[in-house]
Amino acid sequence: VLSGARGHVRFDEVTFAYGTGRTILPEFTLDIPAGQTVALVGTTGAGKSTLAKLVSRFYDPSEGAVTLDGVDLRELHPRDLRRAIVMVTQEAYLFSGTVADNIALGRPDATFDEIVAAAVAVGADPFIRSLPDGYHSDVNKRGGRVSAGQRQLISFARAFLADPAVLILDEATASLDIPSERMIQDALQTLLADRTAIIIAHRLSTVAIADRVLVMEHGRVIEDGTPDAL
Ligand code: ATP
Ligand code: MG
Repeated sequence: VLSGARGHVRFDEVTFAYGTGRTILPEFTLDIPAGQTVALVGTTGAGKSTLAKLVSRFYDPSEGAVTLDGVDLRELHPRDLRRAIVMVTQEAYLFSGTVADNIALGRPDATFDEIVAAAVAVGADPFIRSLPDGYHSDVNKRGGRVSAGQRQLISFARAFLADPAVLILDEATASLDIPSERMIQDALQTLLADRTAIIIAHRLSTVAIADRVLVMEHGRVIEDGTPDAL
């Protein structure tokens, strides 16, 4: 992990509302030990994305605190926070530019070899090399050629290169064919190793590889256990 953070995440009696709206998370307490992979599931509107946004400091709690290794996120330097906690969302998978640029987002200092190594690690290298201009292919211009699964793999390579202590992933809902699904699962396992991960999970196969599954409803955890116990 680049930042040196351990990755212990804690919600300490967090109450949160969007602006003056109703309370979304009421006195929410949750402890996620360093290195744990947590799958978040639950009905629409339960507060899963809100929880993810509080960890990435998209928003701050109205009351209580979210801490990383015991330190209130509000006390961390924004640069340290960005290095320690990375959020991968469905919407922001790719921006216009080359495949290499897309992988290096968040690590502008990365060498080409490091970019390739990250792609190799998550299994994205073979398809990238098969593109007309390889790593220098423009993802937008050839957008039609990059499938949903391949987009996810590129975003996984980006997250792998960023090497955060805490990874937050809002899993894509787009359905994939079986070979892509298998590829994404393998990539995910590699990506999750040695870091804390909070995944808003839409796939059963992702829930299955989690250490812990949290079922949310109306801003509360209604079930908390291992995948096979649920
Ligand atoms: P989904 O499975 O549909 O993604 P979710 O569990 O991620 O749902 P959230 O997006 O966290 O749910 O939303 C929780 C509640 O907060 C919902 O009632 C939603 O309408 C509300 N909400 C979410 N974002 C905002 C916002 N920017 N402003 C006001 N209310 C919001
Ligand atoms: Mg959501």
